[in-house]
Amino acid sequence: MTAISRLAWSDDVGANAAHDASPVLEEGSATPRTRDARSDLLNRIADFIMRHDLDVTSANLAVLCNALSGSNTPLAEAFVQREISGQPIDQRWLNTLVRLDPDARDRLAELDALMDQLEYTLIRFGQTAKSAVDETHDQRGALDAQVGELDAGALGDMSAPEMSCVIELSRTMLSSIVRLENAMVKSQEEAENLRENLAKARMEADIDHLTRLPNRRAFERRLTTVTAQAHAKGEPLCVAFCDIDHFKDINDRHGHEAGDRILCAVASTLNRLAGDDCFVARHGGEEFVLLFYGLSKDAALDKLNGVRRAMAAKQLMNRETGRPFGKLTFSGGLAEVADPNNPRSALARADAALYEAKEAGRNRIVAH
Ligand code: GH3
Ligand code: MG
Ligand code: MG
Repeated sequence: MTAISRLAWSDDVGANAAHDASPVLEEGSATPRTRDARSDLLNRIADFIMRHDLDVTSANLAVLCNALSGSNTPLAEAFVQREISGQPIDQRWLNTLVRLDPDARDRLAELDALMDQLEYTLIRFGQTAKSAVDETHDQRGALDAQVGELDAGALGDMSAPEMSCVIELSRTMLSSIVRLENAMVKSQEEAENLRENLAKARMEADIDHLTRLPNRRAFERRLTTVTAQAHAKGEPLCVAFCDIDHFKDINDRHGHEAGDRILCAVASTLNRLAGDDCFVARHGGEEFVLLFYGLSKDAALDKLNGVRRAMAAKQLMNRETGRPFGKLTFSGGLAEVADPNNPRSALARADAALYEAKEAGRNRIVAH
C-alpha cells in the first residue's frame, strides 16, 4: 500500500467492511479485483483533485475518499448535489463540509461521556475510601482500648501465655490496619488530585489554546443548552459565522507567527465588541462563531455589522517589522435558530450565508 492509499483508507475501514460497499479495503489479501477497485478509486481521487484544482492535504484526501468510495452516503450525496447545482467545488466548500461534519460531533460526545465516567469513578472511589477509613478508624479505636486493657492485666489470672500470644497478634493486626488506613487516605488524596486534574483538563479542552476563546467543542455544548433555554423563555437566538477575509495573504506576506497574532487580536476585538449578550468561540482556523442571546435577527445583524465596521476602520501594524498589515476585514453569515430541536440547521444556514458574503465580495454580513 502506498502512503497515500494508507492515509485515504484509514478512516472508514469498519464502515466499509460492514456494508461491503468497497472491497478495496481488505488489506493484505488483495485479489486482482480488489486491486483494480483500489486503483480505480485512487485514479478518481487524483482526477477529482486535478479537475477542481484542490490541494493535496490529508483532510481533503480523507473527505474525497469517503465521498468517492461511497462509504459515507450523505457526503457522497452532497458532492452529487453540488455537481448538479453547478456551483464550484473549491477549498472553501470542502472546508464547509469538514466544519459541519456530524461525525466530529459524535466523537466529541463520546469523549465527554468518557470523561463523565472517569470523573464519576474517581468521586466514587474517594467516597468509598473515606467511608472505609472512617469505619475502620472507629473499630480500631475500640480494639486498641481492649488490647490495652488485656495488656494491663485487667483480666488477672487470664494473662496466661496463650493470652500474650493473642495480645501480640492483636497488636500486629492493629498496626497492619493503621498502615492500611494510611495507604487508603493517601489513595484518597491521590484520587482527589486526579479529579482536580481531570476538571482542569476538561476546562482546557473547552478553550482554544491560541486565542484563549472557547473552542468549537465548548460552542457545540453551549448551543445545545441555550437553544433549550431560549425556547423555554420564548426568546430569539441567532448564530453567526465570521471568517477573516484573505487571511492566507497575511500568513504569506508576514509569516505564520504574525498571522497568529492577528488571530488573537481579532478574537479579543470580537469578544469585546460583541458584548455580554453574545458568546464568541473560535470555530477553527481563521473562523469564529457567535451566539447572540435574546436578539432578533435584525438586531444581531446590526450588532455584527457594527463590529465589522469597527474592525475594518482600523489600520493594523506589524510591530515586529513595522510594516502595515493594512485593512483587516471579515465576512459573516447569520441565521436565527428557528427549530429548537435542530439548532444545527441554523448553523448550516449561517454557513451558506457566509459563503454568499464571500461570493458577493467579502467585508459584509449576509443574513438568512
Ligand atoms: P477567504 O477570504 O476566502 O476566507 O480567504 P482566506 O485566505 O482567508 O481563506 P483560506 O481558507 O484560503 O485560507 C485560510 C488560511 O488560514 C490558511 C491557513 O493556513 C490559515 N490558518 C488557519 N489556522 C491558522 C492558525 O492557527 N494560524 C495561522 N497563522 N494561520 C492559520
Ligand atoms: Mg475560512
Ligand atoms: Mg478566510
